[in-house]
Amino acid sequence: MNHKERMLKKEGNRISMENNKPEEKNNKEKNNKILLGILAIVLLVAIGIVGYFVFFYENQGAEDNKLAYTDLIKQLADGEIEKIEMTVGSTTVKVKQKNVEEEKTAIIPSTQAFIELVQEKVADGIEFNLNQKSQNVLVSISETFFTLLPTLMIVALFILVFKMQGLGEKGKVYDQDASKEKVKFDDVAGLDEEKQEMIEIVQFLKEPKKFNEMGAKVPRGVLLYGKPGTGKTLIAKAIAGEADVPFISMSGSEFIEMFAGLGASRVRKLFEKARKVAPCIVFIDEIDAIGSRRSSGNGAESENNQTLNQLLVEMDGFDTEETIIVLAATNRPEMLDKALLRPGRFDRQITINVPDLKGREEILKIHSKDKKFAENVTLKSIAEDTAGFTGAELSNILNEAAILATINEHEVIQQEDIEEALKKVTVGLQKTSRVISDKDKKLTAYHEAGHAVVSQYLETQEPVKEISIIPRGMAGGYTMYKTNEDKNYISKTEMEERLIALLGGRAAEKIALNDISTGASNDIEVATKIAKDMVTVYGMSDVVGTISINTEKDPYELQLLGEKYTDAIGAEVKILLDNAYKEAQKLILEHMDKLHEVAEKLLKQETIDEEEFEKIFE
Ligand code: ADP
Ligand code: ZN
Repeated sequence: MNHKERMLKKEGNRISMENNKPEEKNNKEKNNKILLGILAIVLLVAIGIVGYFVFFYENQGAEDNKLAYTDLIKQLADGEIEKIEMTVGSTTVKVKQKNVEEEKTAIIPSTQAFIELVQEKVADGIEFNLNQKSQNVLVSISETFFTLLPTLMIVALFILVFKMQGLGEKGKVYDQDASKEKVKFDDVAGLDEEKQEMIEIVQFLKEPKKFNEMGAKVPRGVLLYGKPGTGKTLIAKAIAGEADVPFISMSGSEFIEMFAGLGASRVRKLFEKARKVAPCIVFIDEIDAIGSRRSSGNGAESENNQTLNQLLVEMDGFDTEETIIVLAATNRPEMLDKALLRPGRFDRQITINVPDLKGREEILKIHSKDKKFAENVTLKSIAEDTAGFTGAELSNILNEAAILATINEHEVIQQEDIEEALKKVTVGLQKTSRVISDKDKKLTAYHEAGHAVVSQYLETQEPVKEISIIPRGMAGGYTMYKTNEDKNYISKTEMEERLIALLGGRAAEKIALNDISTGASNDIEVATKIAKDMVTVYGMSDVVGTISINTEKDPYELQLLGEKYTDAIGAEVKILLDNAYKEAQKLILEHMDKLHEVAEKLLKQETIDEEEFEKIFE
């Protein structure tokens, strides 16, 4: 085994240590259950066949001594019958005819009607024996069995299907004992602020008593929002690892692929298990699968409701003694039922963003620990080429590069291996259009730089805290401002300047790139809303006057005022916006050098923090 192979092996082992082992055990259990199910079915079929033959044989033996039902009725009426013997539940009766030595059997269509019929004749001297038990136990058993066989087989089949679906124990417990590799915060790159927030939870898991004695409330549920592969599971595991408690995980989709009513029972079981091993972490991936908005509706939805309700019941049922922290992950926060977000449930929400340049470099560093690279390869250059990639994708690239290096028989991972790996992974991503093109990047950079530069020259606007061209939510980039001390009032000047800052993005696109994009649509929407409010809510327009119009409450309010007013309002809003845009363009033109400087820095490092930004303006 040469070095590279060993290297790959090692990587494989590391992964299997956290994932495969419990899975393997699960699989074994599952296999056993399937085997048992098949055995049960085979057994049932065998018994059924034997029973059938016994039943058949019994009837066969009685063939010559059979009495047709119609004959029996006729003879009964004619008083030719001496004795009738019957067993409860059986449709075969024994008949002794007068003057006939041998007993005969007859099959009757309905026991109830027949008994009534015979009882009438008892007065005429017929002997009627109604047995509780069959004289031939085997016959009665096989008879019963034979009628029940189809039902039994269906039940057996159902059980088998259930087992195959893994109805049994599906929550995976990762006991973090010393023999296994624990995930620690050090294994999670970037996400510094997020880790900081999690430290509190780790401490609570370690020393719950201390917190309870203080009367301190620790969040019991934390919701992690973010794209797949951004490290939500990883950070949840790291909390368990840091606190040295078990990690129990389950995916929301596992709850609902079930037959009706089972989702809820699964949730119950999951928490039963958690209570047994507490203190512990319960991690529910894809919580939107069970926690999407409730609406009264069809079966699938009401099944979701039951599952969701059970989850809420379990979380509401935590008492202070129980140290269970529930972490849940989702990619679609807007889908979640509001009930999940109430106090005592998932009352803390943390957004996990895709990493920026620095974050990407750190992630690459972690995942390159047990890999050897050629000297000319720098992680930084890989990080620069991977804007928009998640942690999972980055780790994927390194893994792919190691595989390619092995295939290409390189001693160590070469730059070309990485480039090839990057291409491979990127092609997959481009299909889902998740890679940010250079053109988009440049546009976003100038747009965000526009906001930042313009607001820097507006007295009332808050200082810039962070600018980034890394997508966040719907936005391609963002400019964050420092929030000032609580203010009770906002002045007209402040609102006008806010309009200028908002339109600074569009102005920069227009002037620096001589083109405009859809990227500014949200800014324009917000600006228009502010301008409208200035005129119709805050009475800031001299022309329209001090008047308040709430068209949301009453759409006819405008009509009431008449056309003259409506026109005036429209004109005033337009003037406010036009002036703001002109002012923004003026500021951009005056400070083109700064705009270029900020935009170029953004393109280089993707994020600019407060100090770096201020430095540009010194
Ligand atoms: P999610 O739960 O958000 O879908 P995961 O936690 O499952 O993402 O991440 C998948 C893998 O990607 C992790 O096991 C890890 O190898 C890698 N990864 C993701 N984010 C990071 C990070 N911040 N630091 C280190 N590795 C990361
Ligand atoms: Zn903008």
